[in-house]
Amino acid sequence: MFFMSKVVKFGGSSLADAKQFKKVADIINADPERVYVVPSAPGKRFSDDTKVTDLLYQCYERTITGEDFAKAFQPVRERFDGIIRELGLSMSLEEEYVKIGTDFRNGANRDYAASRGEYLNGIILADYLGYKFVDAAKGIFFDSKGNFDSDITNACLGAILEKTPKAVIPGFYGAMPDGSIKTFSRGGSDFTGSVVAKAAGASLYENWTDVSGFLVADPRIVDKPEGIEVITYSELRELSYMGAGVLHEDAIFPVRSANIPINIKNTNAPDDAGTLIVPSAKNAPAKYLITGIAGKKDFSVISIEKDRMNSEKGFMRRMLQVLENHGIFPEHMPTGIDTVSVVVNSHELDGQRDKLTQRLKEVARPDHFEIIDGLALIAVVGRGMKSAKGTATRVFAALSHADINIRMIDQGSSELNIIVGIDEKDFEKAIRVIYDMFILSEQTEK
Ligand code: ADP
Ligand code: ASP
Ligand code: MG
Repeated sequence: MFFMSKVVKFGGSSLADAKQFKKVADIINADPERVYVVPSAPGKRFSDDTKVTDLLYQCYERTITGEDFAKAFQPVRERFDGIIRELGLSMSLEEEYVKIGTDFRNGANRDYAASRGEYLNGIILADYLGYKFVDAAKGIFFDSKGNFDSDITNACLGAILEKTPKAVIPGFYGAMPDGSIKTFSRGGSDFTGSVVAKAAGASLYENWTDVSGFLVADPRIVDKPEGIEVITYSELRELSYMGAGVLHEDAIFPVRSANIPINIKNTNAPDDAGTLIVPSAKNAPAKYLITGIAGKKDFSVISIEKDRMNSEKGFMRRMLQVLENHGIFPEHMPTGIDTVSVVVNSHELDGQRDKLTQRLKEVARPDHFEIIDGLALIAVVGRGMKSAKGTATRVFAALSHADINIRMIDQGSSELNIIVGIDEKDFEKAIRVIYDMFILSEQTEK
């Protein structure tokens, strides 16, 4: 149906200004298979710059508190008009700005406001490339509960793309059944790229960003970490979920179901190989024992102790029911014979700590109950761990040499990852010592 098409998604920093647009056009023009393009809104041009998406959220807040639209929208307008001018395009977004102003005055929602960054950037990019612009609201859909509707999207978007050999489809948003706009969560253009790749039956999803692929650890924490050449969907899922920010945590699902590989590439160094994300790594043996390290702060532990807890029928069920009733989702639940610790995102406790404590005490009647804040979780992930003995021991040794206290340990039965809970203050140090233990020391051995 589609001749060897590639879907290319460009992140905000790749499209931050006219200079970056030129790099993007060179990349697209270098390969005739790069026919579907998914842009983000313009991102930061320098470290303390503001992303257009954030400017739009600010604009929305300002207008709902009574400020004039034209004034609140000015910073957004300047970014786009600057790009158009510097690219020397003869197009204008004037009519679009008027329409957005009217929509704001008619009570358009916050998601609509945020989505205009991708929308307007898509119009400029399509004009610059000579590609057709396809509004994501015409092909990407949510159901009435606000969940992404994969079946309808695949059918509608597939039909549109079949008739459109080259198109720009803006990232980050789609339409609700009533036609209103809804966005994915932040960073969601990665997800759009994956959705488009599936609908187009693409041979490859290229995700262009500002790093040469997935690195073993966050480059803001570890100095010049090693790159990862090949990673499996499952490994990537673990790392993205645990905060490795390169790719949105849901972005692998659409392409995974269609067996389409993802290649993470660097717009500023297009010849670098980047990282290839594949369904299975049968032909790609792991280079190191571990593939990556990622982590997140802001967790709390609900710690419950009760003698003979394990002989009390239905104890866990009742406790989990209380959490569910409060909309709390347990991330991990290490248990002992007489203890259970439930690790949760701290923000989920906001405004309901006292009530939750009271309910859990009523239901569990514990000997000891405590909520401990300030926990960070670190995931050490790797397909190479499965067959190797002693990986956990090395993680613990690295942490204990650095005098870091381990508050929780969890290893999944798939043996793909080990998760440790530590004090937030030790977070960066812990990532660095684990990196040194597995990557630096193996490099010296090689
Ligand atoms: P884009 O705007 O292209 O979508 P993002 O900012 O969302 O880009 O993602 C790329 C950033 O992710 C990098 O600049 C880097 O700072 C950060 N990052 C976090 N963890 C990692 C990692 N393990 N490997 C590479 N980059 C990482
Ligand atoms: N522009 C959106 C954001 O800043 C979506 C994206 O960049 O993927 O979150
Ligand atoms: Mg991103």
